[in-house]
Amino acid sequence: MAGIYIHIPFCKRRCIYCDFFSTTASDKKNEYIKALCKEIAEKKGYLGGETIDTIYLGGGTPSQLEKDDFRNIFSAIYDNYNVNPEAEITIEANPDDLTDGYVEMLATLPFNRLSMGIQTFNDDILSLLKRRHNAQQAIDAFRRCRNAGFGNISIDLMYGLPGESIETWNRDLDTAISLMPEHISAYHLIYEEGTVLYRLKEENMVSEADEDLSNTLFETLISRLKENGYIHYEISNFCLPEMHSRHNSSYWTGIKYLGCGPSAHSYDGHSRQWNVSSLEKYIDGINNGTDISEIEELDIYTRYNDFVITTIRTVWGMPLDKLKAEYGDELYDYCLKMAQPHIDQGTLEIKDNTLKLTPNGIFISDGIMSDMLWVE
Ligand code: SF4
Repeated sequence: MAGIYIHIPFCKRRCIYCDFFSTTASDKKNEYIKALCKEIAEKKGYLGGETIDTIYLGGGTPSQLEKDDFRNIFSAIYDNYNVNPEAEITIEANPDDLTDGYVEMLATLPFNRLSMGIQTFNDDILSLLKRRHNAQQAIDAFRRCRNAGFGNISIDLMYGLPGESIETWNRDLDTAISLMPEHISAYHLIYEEGTVLYRLKEENMVSEADEDLSNTLFETLISRLKENGYIHYEISNFCLPEMHSRHNSSYWTGIKYLGCGPSAHSYDGHSRQWNVSSLEKYIDGINNGTDISEIEELDIYTRYNDFVITTIRTVWGMPLDKLKAEYGDELYDYCLKMAQPHIDQGTLEIKDNTLKLTPNGIFISDGIMSDMLWVE
């Protein structure tokens, strides 16, 4: 069981908060697709022949590609890997790319899950963030995908946006819930250094949501989605029953994955590696057979730290028998010692030999995970 992530590093325009690797220059797109297909084929040994259960095209903006690009990518995958016929195959899409013709085209390809970057239904904020769509386009695109037969749609939302209040957030949630997507990812806006948004904050043109407001927005998110039948299965992710993202869940459950394309990360159970974050260096490296990735062998302490960060964040929690079996008595005892104050405070609990966040713990999950990490 394994996953494949494909990075599509093209965006028509840069959103002001984004620090993902992407470029607005699309002149190298054809060259890129060729290099990407070559990488996919060359790395076929990386996953040790395991069956591919999830494929995820992320970005950047995968919905900037055309049918032939997708066909080439899928040929490279299906020719070189054993893909489960029931695999979850996701494409991230920008709402304004999802025209009638484009959605019809996507429906002819192996995609069975769509992830739409909506972020908010507030037109003024969408425009401030330099998103390309407005609220109505997002709603229309969602319905168009539904009508075209996509029965598994995820939407991304953001909260803690400039000028956000409980009222504006509730309005976004009202609209999101009315669409009934199978999956909702909701992230607090982060002012990443180096972004235009960060500069605007430094120049006092926008201000960050304070901690009290952020907590109330998160609380509102959790309670509104729960009331409407969504399961809160990871800190930022909610789904209708059985509709969790299988691809993202594989990151949190230690399943191997191969990432192809610039800046993509891979994990084989012992090491992680990541490709260069430059389109030119990536294409040259693939074409000339030079190394495009860095690799980090993971010692037991690093693997333990990954185990803490990936398991505690989910509703499935940390299986303590696995902790002991894979990391030994020293780290097992250390983990429980560091968890104990949080168990005493009611922010962590042990149920069925599994260590989990309690509803109160979810609000301070970063601090809890950080306390449990092994520090040299
Ligand atoms: S479309 Fe996505 S990847 Fe591209 S700039 Fe905006 S947030 Fe970043």
